[in-house]
Amino acid sequence: MKKIYFDNAATTPIRKEVIDAIIESMETDFGNPSSSHSFGRTAKNSLEISRKQIAKQFNISSQEIIFTSGATEANNWILNSAITNLGVKRIITSKIEHHAVLHAVQKLENEHHIQIDYVNVNPDGSIDLAHLVKLLQQNLPTLVSLMHVNNETGVVLDLEKTARICEQHKVFFHSDTVQSVGKTTIDLSKIQLHFLAASAHKFHGPKGIGFAFVRKGLAMNALIVGGEQEKGLRAGTEPIHNIMGMAKALEISKTLHESEMAFVSELKKHCIQKLFEAFPKMKINGNENCFYNILNVMLPLSIDKTSLLLFNLDIKGIAVSRGSACQSGSPKPSHVLAQMLSGDDLLLPSLRISFSHFNTFDEIDYFVSVLQSI
Ligand code: PLP
Repeated sequence: MKKIYFDNAATTPIRKEVIDAIIESMETDFGNPSSSHSFGRTAKNSLEISRKQIAKQFNISSQEIIFTSGATEANNWILNSAITNLGVKRIITSKIEHHAVLHAVQKLENEHHIQIDYVNVNPDGSIDLAHLVKLLQQNLPTLVSLMHVNNETGVVLDLEKTARICEQHKVFFHSDTVQSVGKTTIDLSKIQLHFLAASAHKFHGPKGIGFAFVRKGLAMNALIVGGEQEKGLRAGTEPIHNIMGMAKALEISKTLHESEMAFVSELKKHCIQKLFEAFPKMKINGNENCFYNILNVMLPLSIDKTSLLLFNLDIKGIAVSRGSACQSGSPKPSHVLAQMLSGDDLLLPSLRISFSHFNTFDEIDYFVSVLQSI
């Protein structure tokens, strides 16, 4: 059976070159980077080269990159440190953040009794920046945490504009950039972000590795204590093979960015066109500026078809993701769509289809024909 993977916002297939780099590293860099002998020094050298390669892509210094197990860890650490080390008394975020931010913020609210404010979300899924400005009128030491690209809808936040607002109000700005790193250029010498979080498996790298960017001069508490790794901020022997794989994945993404973005944008355009031909009453959840690899659509299907939609696609070999309630047996609506759609629309099936350069136009045609036959 044909297998089609349209769930690249969840995770991406690893590039062959990245797998090769990981294998090579496991063979040649098995030393512990903290050891002083030649094996350790070789591993340490590879580690620092990877850090430099990654930092270069963001126009920052390598000391500003701290390796973590992924973005969940990086987000948790940044939010936590802002409270315990930077004197932040309030976090402003939105209800459409990934749970890696939302649940971390709720935990901080319970444990540290800080103030949490949520910026309004517009019906098209964008953040109401005028409301952010209004919230910032209250003069409190604040961290603003807003994601760059929403993982469910692909709606994009204007990072530069948001950073300018934060700068004007002298507050910290953190962005969960998991869906955009490796898929777009983020020049941190131009954008006044204080923190960002990224994860390699979202840009065709390995799982279990990511990083936090922490702007120079910001004192953080140790995420995990133990050895002196990562300047004592994140103890534990570094997974060199994963870090080298991540650096390789980011480097290739950068080199091929223009051509892959053009191709994936065409795939998305084709998918929208085919879906509208098949379902003229379909609606797109989001706006015209949504990120080029994520498409979230609301399908005009009856309730009886809704409940088993993902299951029926899966048995035909097609992997997409749930966008709203009552699919695959989940009783909970998407917390993102719940902020954007009416109660009636939430009952309709919404699907997130997310592409990569590994997909083809034929796969889209097959997917639409299967959807029509359900
Ligand atoms: N933030 C966003 C926007 C995501 O899409 C994800 C992954 O689904 C995460 C955070 C968590 O990343 P990780 O699984 O690497 O910790």
